[in-house]
Amino acid sequence: MITSESFGVNAEGHLTIGGCDSVKLAETFGTPLYVMDENVIRKVCRMYQGSLEKYYQGKGQAVYASKAFSCKEMCRIVAEEGLGLDVVSGGELYTAKAAGFPAERVYFHGNNKTRDEIKFGLEFGVGHFVADNLEELELLQELAAERNQTAKILLRIKPGVDAHTHEFIRTGQIDSKFGFALENGEAKQAVQKALQLPNVQLIGLHCHIGSQIFDVAPFVLAAELLLDFMKEIRDETGTLLKELNLGGGYGIKYVKEDTPVPYDQYMQIVSEAIIKRCEAYQMEIPYVYMEPGRSIVGEAGVTLYEVGSVKTIPNIRTYVSVNGGMTDNPRYALYHAPYTALIANKAAEPADFCATIAGKCCESGDLIQENTMIQKPQAGDILAVLSTGAYNYSMASNYNRNPKPAVVMVRDGEARVIVRRETYEDLIRCDV
Ligand SMILES: *Cc1c(COP(=O)(O)O)cnc(C)c1O
Repeated sequence: MITSESFGVNAEGHLTIGGCDSVKLAETFGTPLYVMDENVIRKVCRMYQGSLEKYYQGKGQAVYASKAFSCKEMCRIVAEEGLGLDVVSGGELYTAKAAGFPAERVYFHGNNKTRDEIKFGLEFGVGHFVADNLEELELLQELAAERNQTAKILLRIKPGVDAHTHEFIRTGQIDSKFGFALENGEAKQAVQKALQLPNVQLIGLHCHIGSQIFDVAPFVLAAELLLDFMKEIRDETGTLLKELNLGGGYGIKYVKEDTPVPYDQYMQIVSEAIIKRCEAYQMEIPYVYMEPGRSIVGEAGVTLYEVGSVKTIPNIRTYVSVNGGMTDNPRYALYHAPYTALIANKAAEPADFCATIAGKCCESGDLIQENTMIQKPQAGDILAVLSTGAYNYSMASNYNRNPKPAVVMVRDGEARVIVRRETYEDLIRCDV
């Protein structure tokens, strides 16, 4: 099992999460159930904000990428912790607005924002748009002019740094649908265009180089490449861009082999590189953003299921079927994402049983994990899957007309529902 300050095992041998007995949570709120530990979320928020204070003179902000887990309560927590909020759609923006999130701290991303979404963003008064393409620049100009507004923008740049989980490569021409490439002059053309648009104000540059990254080096390289480009822009146009957004992608622990960098170390190393480069170029250091999503909520989350059947196929494998699956966690089906599982009501027993955890959907690929070691399971047990706080609820679907589970927030032994369980009535709400 992964050790975490959030987890424990109580006298009954039950897994505890944030001081709450997981088996009692399952009884009280039903299964499948997403459980999130608020203390973990807040602690990570403070680590990111604190690292900017400590290593970068406070000239920056952590911005939570809400696509990892978006709901009103999460927006409220992020607002309280003083972070900004990334949104990628009208729906995420609507959630932020409904939660009373301060508009000026919202950053609107996306490679194909629709006309309606941009209008909504302007109306709400989002702080920054992160512009992805030339058509978007024109649309921003048109819609901002109509409203007599100025849209503050960052340009999304492909720096040519491609970071995978345990390695990174610098490619001449990265194949990505996001942003403007540096190498072929696209980025420069976008800067020139943006500088000419009267209702668009170019404030800075943005990049996001990947996800679940365990290495600081690709972040340093991306920052250096963007600073080089800022210098080039200054020298050629006389405009000094003031903001630099380095994206997110900081890796978390899914299985015990994962070795994430402590979250405050990124800024320590990256800020040194930025300060050094700016001195060499005699540039004022830019205001810096980091955009963690997964690392803020991922390890805070646990999913609880009830085991329905245990089916051993001799000499092949044992399927342990649970009452959820790809509908609440599609990440194994999508990209064979690793997870740690255990039997929550037998947490003190040895994990000596090899299980393939299957969901209840009509798809053979509906698996949560294959051949993973758990305690000996039987029907009625509560199975816990760890590190499901990010990209689980936010990627959940209603396939097979399964209602989405509830989300419960725990903190110091107290539990409260922050997203209620869907009902069958919810499933037919839009049917005519
Ligand atoms: C997804 C995304 C993030 C967050 O990535 P994580 O891997 O969850 O930290 C940040 N910025 C942008 C632009 C993204 O698309």
